[in-house]
Amino acid sequence: MTIEENLRTVRQRIERAGGNPSEIKIVAVTKGFGPEICRQAIATGLKTLGENRVQEALQKMDAVDGAEWHLLGHLQTNKVRHTAGRFTLIQSVDSSRIAEAIAAIDAAQPVLVEVNVARETQKTGVDPTRAASMIDKVAEMLDLRGLMAMGPTSGDPTMAFTELRTLRDDAEQRLGKALPILSMGMSGDFEAAVKAGSTMLRLGEALFGPRPA
Ligand SMILES: *Cc1c(COP(=O)(O)O)cnc(C)c1O
Repeated sequence: MTIEENLRTVRQRIERAGGNPSEIKIVAVTKGFGPEICRQAIATGLKTLGENRVQEALQKMDAVDGAEWHLLGHLQTNKVRHTAGRFTLIQSVDSSRIAEAIAAIDAAQPVLVEVNVARETQKTGVDPTRAASMIDKVAEMLDLRGLMAMGPTSGDPTMAFTELRTLRDDAEQRLGKALPILSMGMSGDFEAAVKAGSTMLRLGEALFGPRPA
């Protein structure tokens, strides 16, 4: 299957889940894939690429033109300086320490707060019980656009995605500010995410096939 065919299938599945494919942004997750896949994605019209690691992302940015890049993976404070001006969205802010480090370099950086709504200890993201206060802090420091989460490794992700949406809705009320981005849904669970109100899907294998080991 080509990326184009896979993308068509993804759009049909979004529609069948009740979503409007023209209103839901797809971030093509190229982590683990090489620059050639990035170029093919861009040629297919997928111009927003997502990466987990700063170093891997920077290498591909140098090799690939015509894309904007999102950082999806956990960010360490000692890597923050390398992100300056390179990512149109950092989706994985999960501590005030990391928010402060980003703000020290660029307070206008667009970000999402990542929340561990799956409540899995191996997952990154702020604990849901501390999410509201973290969101308020980050909104003061950076250009906060919304929230991000990963669904649970197994089982129905609906509760987790609905919780993220509620956290977002509550935060909009509290802050009196629009937080339009709800980044939730990966290859294995994006239909449930669409049903719960996702505005941004992060898709790798559904577009590109199995990730090289
Ligand atoms: C790898 C990854 C994705 C994409 O995963 P697929 O299963 O390939 O769709 C999305 N979001 C994050 C944070 C990831 O690490």
